[in-house]
Amino acid sequence: MSKKIFAVNAGSSSLKFQLLDMPSKHVIAKGIFEKIGSQQGIFTMEFKGRKEKELLDLPSHQFAVQHLLDALLKQQVIRSLDEIDGVGHRVAHGGESFGDSVYVDERVMSIIEELAFLAPSHNPVNLTGIAAFKKALPQVGNVAVFDTAFHQSLRPEFFCYPIPSRYYERYQIRKYGFHGTSHQYIAEKVAALWEEQGESAADLRIISCHLGNGASICAIKNGCSVNTSMGFTPLAGLMMGSRSGDIDPMILPFLMQQEGLTAQAISDLLNKESGLLAVSQLSNDVRDIVEASQQGDGKAALALQMFVNRIAQTVAAYITDLAGLDALVFTAGIGEHSALIREMVINKLNCLGLFLNPSANEQGQLFIQNKDSKAKILIVPTDEELMIAQDTMRILELEQQSSEIQTHKVARTGHTT
Ligand code: ADP
Repeated sequence: MSKKIFAVNAGSSSLKFQLLDMPSKHVIAKGIFEKIGSQQGIFTMEFKGRKEKELLDLPSHQFAVQHLLDALLKQQVIRSLDEIDGVGHRVAHGGESFGDSVYVDERVMSIIEELAFLAPSHNPVNLTGIAAFKKALPQVGNVAVFDTAFHQSLRPEFFCYPIPSRYYERYQIRKYGFHGTSHQYIAEKVAALWEEQGESAADLRIISCHLGNGASICAIKNGCSVNTSMGFTPLAGLMMGSRSGDIDPMILPFLMQQEGLTAQAISDLLNKESGLLAVSQLSNDVRDIVEASQQGDGKAALALQMFVNRIAQTVAAYITDLAGLDALVFTAGIGEHSALIREMVINKLNCLGLFLNPSANEQGQLFIQNKDSKAKILIVPTDEELMIAQDTMRILELEQQSSEIQTHKVARTGHTT
């Protein structure tokens, strides 16, 4: 039976949503509220082939959710709120508490809140989004889909940091990894592609390169995350749009002493003023940097080469972690759209037996390796909203089954457990 599921991503001043028909995967409506908390709010929604934009006072997330539901009714996208079957929420940090998506009840909400110390700018606002939907749609089940959950399969040799273990015990400092929803989507999509082609997906070794403004790489074996480049926070690993990625950690205390910088100033420097933006001194957007580089801008060229080097080095490292490779996948804004970055990365990996088919790469085909390549190379558009909707369906079905078992037990024994 077809179901209508929301996939929601609540940020500090924004709320992105898609309403999907499942299992057909059809996107019924999608859009975003921006500048929540101000009188200059913006609401954009696409539905029935139309795109509408509204400027409005947006005092809160709660107000935005109510406005969204009213707009869906008014535009006759839905006839009644009873048509909504579930709401899936992207939640930044599940710590070590959540290795899978989960049905949201009071206990789950309080754990997400407890984990806010690990993601102070995300978990509280994700909870605000959940609370807003719970209030507006009290009969509808909510599911939390964690950005970290997919990486809970990492073994200690990959998630431990070589610092005194008391900090893991006191503050749970370890590698968590992020972009889990995207990497899991890629893992499932590639496995399905293999099976469609009559090949076994068992023990499939995939390296998923999620290259967007934030970027991470994940080594996947048999559908499970083995290693990933982001760490305790999403700052770690690759060089990104405005994030440094890995740097010598002693630079931090050095700069704090030399420049009298606070911890917050260092955090802002590394998260917002570094990466491609800092090296190119131009932009955090690869499109701008490629254009400048082609016009002879040396800083732009340096930024691109540093970005590519990190990606290729990480892929090479993960080939060792996986003891080989079957599929290298490019996804997200840069991975899906920049033929140049893909080509530069693969050229550096020729020494490991990975080779590109240049015209397939230029055309953005699904498979872009040539016949000599030891592994397949793919471009797979990621779809985090679809993954959230699928997980929401799965968890709501499990929840329904367990409540039916409970009801059955009560009916037989006459008392609850
Ligand atoms: P986010 O991490 O914000 O979700 P996306 O996955 O949408 O980001 O990726 C956004 C980035 O993708 C942009 O900052 C830009 O660098 C890059 N990008 C998008 N389209 C292209 C393109 N045609 N060529 C090169 N880079 C692109």
